[in-house]
Amino acid sequence: MSLTCGIDIGGTKILGGVVDEDGAILAELRVESPATDEEAIERAVCDLVRRLAAEHDVSAVGVGAAGYVDKSRSTVMFAPNIAWRDVALRAELERDLGLPVVIENDANVAAWGEFRFGAGADVDDLLLVTVGTGVGGGLVLDGSLYRGAFGVGAEIGHMRVVPGGVLCGCGNHGCWEQYASGSAMVREARSEARGGSLLARRLLDLADGDVDRITGPLITEAARAGDPFSVEQLATLGRWLGEGIASLAAILDPAVCAIGGGVSGHRCGSRRHQGRRRGGLRGGRGAAGGSSHDAGPAGRGGARRGRTDPGRGGGGRRSPGGGRRARGRRVRRRRGGEGHVRPAPALAR
Ligand SMILES: [Zn+2]
Repeated sequence: MSLTCGIDIGGTKILGGVVDEDGAILAELRVESPATDEEAIERAVCDLVRRLAAEHDVSAVGVGAAGYVDKSRSTVMFAPNIAWRDVALRAELERDLGLPVVIENDANVAAWGEFRFGAGADVDDLLLVTVGTGVGGGLVLDGSLYRGAFGVGAEIGHMRVVPGGVLCGCGNHGCWEQYASGSAMVREARSEARGGSLLARRLLDLADGDVDRITGPLITEAARAGDPFSVEQLATLGRWLGEGIASLAAILDPAVCAIGGGVSGHRCGSRRHQGRRRGGLRGGRGAAGGSSHDAGPAGRGGARRGRTDPGRGGGGRRSPGGGRRARGRRVRRRRGGEGHVRPAPALAR
């Protein structure tokens, strides 16, 4: 069986895994990301691959990078949190490793993983929304990853939802991720606490009176303990998520919308028709588990966690391309028993 090595390069860590053809992860390693040093990142990636390849017969490497990757999947054009500006990462890694390498945007990689092995394994059209520090997105349309004309499609976090709204890191105002991300939730909670709001007192107490210690996980913890203010922060985040997803669903008509990332938690599934009708994800089950934009290692799929159905991702279920096409249009539109908005098991960690 052919094995590949998936690498996830983020702003804080580099994660590597050996993955088989069925999406099962056979080994994993993680190192801190020297995000400000371009060459150090490459050395760290090469070191990670060599360590994994020493134990497993790896034949190719897939890299998910938190940045804009060109359409030929070779060059990282820009990364907001990593020191990359037009870096020919593919060529440099192939030279150093002597293996075929593919570079792809991390949210695209995550969407493809969910499509192959996770929440979208039985459909042809999938929208993945990753909710963490920001909001990322990946889109699979009619069985193909959608990259757009220049390779930077599906940057859904920068969809404008509030004209003249909060300034975003991208330079525009009112982007969705300024309202529907873990960072947005923490920003608002801190603002309330800093303003002396009595509502935020319990949360502030949990933070030992230090506003800067109010974090996504702390808000989640307080919400679970019944703090109404923290519950409301999560509910607000959920409403903003629902608003954006409803707009995206109207344009894209995906069969499944999978939600991943640090804030999504593990049990945030809600039915799409509810999201459409009410403009939000109801039920309050989208508790935050953290606030990182964690897309998981490239190409990993849902084999490791969150796969409650042992048949999912099973061996030989789908050959690349052929099997899915043969299944064709049988899979669509489940309006009854199963929800269209699903948690992303391939991303759950
Ligand atoms: Zn933006």
